[in-house]
Amino acid sequence: MKKILFAASECVPFVKTGGLADVVGSLPKSMDPKKYDIRVIIPLYHAIPEKYRDRMETVYYFQMDNRIYVGVKKLVMDGITYYFIDNEQYFSGLVPYYDMFQDLERFAYFSKAVLSALPLIGFRPDIIHCHDWQSALIPVYLNTVFQGDPFFRGIKTIFTIHNIRFQGTWNVGHLKWVSALPSECFKPGLLVSPFQNTDYPENEWNASMMRGGLVYSDYITTVSNSYAQEIQTPQFSDGLDDILKWRNNRLWGIINGLDYSIWNPSTDGKIAQNYNLVTLKKGKEANKMAMQRRLGLKEDGKVFTIGLISRLTDQKGLDLIDQCMDQICSMNINLVILGTGDRRYEDMFRYYATKYPGKVSANICYSDELSHLMYAGCDALLVPSAFEPCGLTQLIALKYGTIPIVHEVGGLKDSVKPYNQFEQTGTGFTFHDYSGWALQDRINHANWVYYDKPSYWKEMQKRGMKEDWSWTNSSKIYADLYEK
Ligand code: ADP
Repeated sequence: MKKILFAASECVPFVKTGGLADVVGSLPKSMDPKKYDIRVIIPLYHAIPEKYRDRMETVYYFQMDNRIYVGVKKLVMDGITYYFIDNEQYFSGLVPYYDMFQDLERFAYFSKAVLSALPLIGFRPDIIHCHDWQSALIPVYLNTVFQGDPFFRGIKTIFTIHNIRFQGTWNVGHLKWVSALPSECFKPGLLVSPFQNTDYPENEWNASMMRGGLVYSDYITTVSNSYAQEIQTPQFSDGLDDILKWRNNRLWGIINGLDYSIWNPSTDGKIAQNYNLVTLKKGKEANKMAMQRRLGLKEDGKVFTIGLISRLTDQKGLDLIDQCMDQICSMNINLVILGTGDRRYEDMFRYYATKYPGKVSANICYSDELSHLMYAGCDALLVPSAFEPCGLTQLIALKYGTIPIVHEVGGLKDSVKPYNQFEQTGTGFTFHDYSGWALQDRINHANWVYYDKPSYWKEMQKRGMKEDWSWTNSSKIYADLYEK
């Protein structure tokens, strides 16, 4: 049996700010428990609900480097063992992330604490599978500071990029201080870009924790095939294309899957009425009206309703939506938004909700419950992201018979098949050029098919619902990788 440890900064059901938590929560459960003992380690944030904290037991506590406290707690749930790194100083805030400056220190501590704890908690993994920059220093520590310790000999590492935009970047001076890594790690080509302008003093060079993860891990994965190609180009790599091209024989693109025990319209306990391929029309109408009631919109099971469920940041293509809003709102349409993020986008949607009352509902909050009801109650879902490593919302939408309208990029391109009216194929509306015009054109098309060709619409919904975006396929590819 192979032993694998997932190290990450978030995990469903304990703490979630985005898709990373869904993946870390669901992938271990999808792997064959007879072949893999997969455990997960995350920080013990205060934000983790008490109902979980109360059930945790303390496994061990110690002073790391003789100066800083590390507690390790444990909770076994649904057959998976979860560990939590406890330190009040670092993780007592109400949210998992603060600002980058503070987070660098918090997650450098987390990465080192994970390795320091392993010999003490009775679990020696064969593979440590690290997710995103917050755990990117684990392969670096393993191959430097911990290298001489026989306990760690032979442990392999995998680093998964969920989003290359966030890398844990700061100047060398600060990263050296927070990580206490040896100076050699900060040579150009390691944590520092080989194209660094060396006219500056060394301590002012930019260093990236994620670059460290990419250099020192045995294998690299990312969350779709297209994104694996895209991040090897300067346009999408945020400065890491050199290392990704250099290591591309070790880079795998594996699309994320969904946990269908959570995301399934026929069993979902958070929606107004369950439905399946047969009861699709009635079910979606009932959910649409329940959603309209809840949001104070006029109850009308027939009105074309578009949803947006997203972090409100530049990545998500909200500038395109801004360009189309007046046009969209001139149609017989409802637009329901659920998201939080940058102030300017939050205010933008608040403004449109005031400008078009009864048409636009702006819910500037995080609500898991409302998101379920929206997947069930909306007819279409917008995902116009400028870049999208995988994207989960379009996969969930497909399962709920909600037609995705997406930009052909990254995982969106790999998961939504363009609608072809003549052949009656495809599962969503897709556009190639990143422009408001292209998005508007697809929304117009969707609007027309919805109202004028309802039987085509229904067939497209069914094609999407029949697809399998669970972990069944992707977990086999992860198994191949673990065997390697
Ligand atoms: P990202 O990881 O970039 O945020 P993904 O599409 O991979 O985007 O995953 C987003 C996940 O977060 C989905 O499960 C989506 O339903 C959920 N989500 C995003 N915003 C909200 C919100 N405001 N309320 C509830 N769930 C949300």
